This record gives sequence, structure tokens and C-alpha cells, in this order.
Amino acid sequence: MSSESQRIVLAARPVGEPKATDFRLESGPLPTPGEGQVLLRTIWLSLDPYMRGRMSEGPSYAAPVEIGGVMEGGTVAEVIASNSDKFSKGDIVLAHSGWQTHAVVDARGLRKIDPALAPISTAVGVLGMPGMTAYTGLLEIGKPQPGETVVVAAASGAVGSAVGQIARIKGARAIGIAGGADKCRYVTEELGFDACLDHRDPDLAAKLKEACPKGIDVYFENVGGKVWDAVLPRLNPFARVPVCGLIADYNALTGDAPGPNRAPALMRAVLVKRLTLRGFIVRDFAALHGDFLRDMSQWVREGKIKYREFVTEGLASAPEAFIGLLKGKNFGKQLVRIGPDKV
Ligand code: NDP
Repeated sequence: MSSESQRIVLAARPVGEPKATDFRLESGPLPTPGEGQVLLRTIWLSLDPYMRGRMSEGPSYAAPVEIGGVMEGGTVAEVIASNSDKFSKGDIVLAHSGWQTHAVVDARGLRKIDPALAPISTAVGVLGMPGMTAYTGLLEIGKPQPGETVVVAAASGAVGSAVGQIARIKGARAIGIAGGADKCRYVTEELGFDACLDHRDPDLAAKLKEACPKGIDVYFENVGGKVWDAVLPRLNPFARVPVCGLIADYNALTGDAPGPNRAPALMRAVLVKRLTLRGFIVRDFAALHGDFLRDMSQWVREGKIKYREFVTEGLASAPEAFIGLLKGKNFGKQLVRIGPDKV
């Protein structure tokens, strides 16, 4: 067993896009678990867009990481020492132990993963938080009906790829929006969406009209920005908009963007078209976790839901990978391989 642990801490709060110098790699001795605690060896670190929010101060649904604090993050890890009767050495667990090779955590926050059921990385991907976000946001708020049109952006990513495939399972048409021809090809040819448009195409609005001749009934909002501008005029009366993420704006500097106040036009559209816009955070639907695991595991087993992972190697690669994730450099669920499955 290595006697040293490494971690990445928040060195500075980013101004706009995060930079490598906003992070710092530190080393220290392996921590020792106290009563009711376990020592974890990280195998997979999940990188997710919400981490950008944790790097900044300001009102949000969760507290920011302190300067000097370990970057937050979901992990798949092996228990290498245990002072808890619930976990034994060798157990593989889902944790929230952050950007570090080892961590001492309270055993109460852990969930055991059965490596026989699916690759363990899926516990932070299609069978984990992003999959659950797609499942609950789409089915509880979007409520797609057979024959309806569902649009989702970041369509090759962890959440968006699942949204479109679940929409198809429910009998709806799925239209993806993604960055570039390769991602769009994957979304239609591999994932089976009915069409996919490039959000960098200057004719996005016209292409969207063509791809959605009967309008849009559900828009699963992952990005905001120009995509939302193109979608809003195409929403049908009584359309539903699960507001899941606004990644196009995560690096925006604080304060309102310059330009005219568009809130009145938006509110008029909400009224006239009787739209439902509802923001949600995946944990709002924690009660549905059992339903999610049952349905999603079955769909993955049956090949009805496919997923793609985008892996970088080693803890030191995490900052660059995270900076890339916010710009669409990832192609699939962004993961960092921190250590081997078995040592
Ligand atoms: P992805 O794997 O989809 O990666 C992020 C993708 O966002 C990039 O690959 C890029 O794809 C796209 N993107 C970045 N900037 C822009 C832009 N300006 N315009 C359009 N697309 C852009 O990430 P996730 O699937 O993990 O997350 C997707 C969204 O869901 C995020 O907004 C995230 O914050 C949100 N989320 C919300 C949760 C909740 O509880 N509400 C939980 C989990 C995620 P491309 O190359 O195609 O542009």
C-alpha cells in the first residue's frame, strides 16, 4: 500500500474560465480512519459541470469549496481499511470523496457497488448521478408522450445522451444538439436519435425548425445561451422545460450580460403558450432512486441505453480535463482514472 496520498485543492477562485493555476496538487501522509470511518483508495473520479459552481462564492444550492479545500467530486473507490462494521476491506463503494487518491470518510455516506452487475465506473455515469438526472428530469417534469418531440442539447454527454434515449423508449422523437459533426453522427447513428444539430451552425434556428416540423413539446435545458434562444420560439403550447443546467453561462463573469432585458418577452411566451419551466436538482427526486436503478439497469442490459466514457489518466490530469469539459472537449461521460480496479 502506498504511504502517500495526493489531492487537488482549490488554489484560487476563477475569474471567467478556470485556469490550471486555480488548482494545486498537494501530497501528504495517508490519513487514518477513526471510529465509524473507512480509508478509501480512489479508482474513478467523476468530473461534472456543477463543480464550476463550487469554485465560486455566491448564492447557490450548495456551499462553495473553501480556498485550500479539496475539490469536491463523486468517486468510485475501494475500502482499504475499515473501522465500520458495515464495510470490509476490498469493498467497492460509491463515495463523494473528491479529487484525491485516498480519503478517510464516514461510512454512513457510502453505498456498496456490486462489480458483478455492471462496470463500476457506471456508478458515477449512466447508472449514477447523471443517469438519474436524465431519468427524473425527463420523466417527472418533461413527461414525454408518444409522438411528441423532445429536444436536448449537450446530447452526446452524460445527461443528454440518456435523455434522448429515454425519450425514444417512451415513444417520442428525440432531437439532439451537440458541438460538431462527430458528436452529431454518434448521437444519431449510435444512440438512435432522430436528428442532431450542431449548435455552432449559424443557421441553428432554421435547422431546428426543419427538424421539428410539429414544434417542440419537451425541451430538456442543459445549456442555455444561444440554444435556448433558438428553442424558445419553437416551443408548442403546453410545452414542458425541465431546467437542468445552463453550462453556456457557467464561466460568465458575475453580473448581468449586456444587452436588452429579455425577461418580459420570456414571461409573455410562458403566459401565452402556457409553458411549464421547472428547475430541479437531481437530489430533489431522491425518492425515485430505486425506480431509476431498476429501469436504467434493465435498459442498459437490453442495449436500449448506450453510453460512452471519456477517460483521462491520473489525478494530475483532472484540472485540464475539467477545463475541457466546460468547453465541450469531452466526448461522453468525463472520468479520471485515479487508480487500477485492483492493486
Ligand atoms: P456533459 O457530459 O454533457 O459535458 C458538458 C457538455 O456541455 C460539453 O461536452 C459540451 O458539449 C456542452 N457545452 C459546453 N458549452 C456549451 C455551449 N456554450 N453551448 C452548448 N453546449 C455546450 O455534461 P453532463 O451531462 O454532466 O451535464 C449536462 C448538463 O446537466 C450541465 O449543464 C450540468 O450542469 C447539468 N446537470 C444538472 C444536474 C442537476 O441536478 N440539475 C445534475 C447533473 C448535470 P458539446 O460539445 O456538445 O457542445
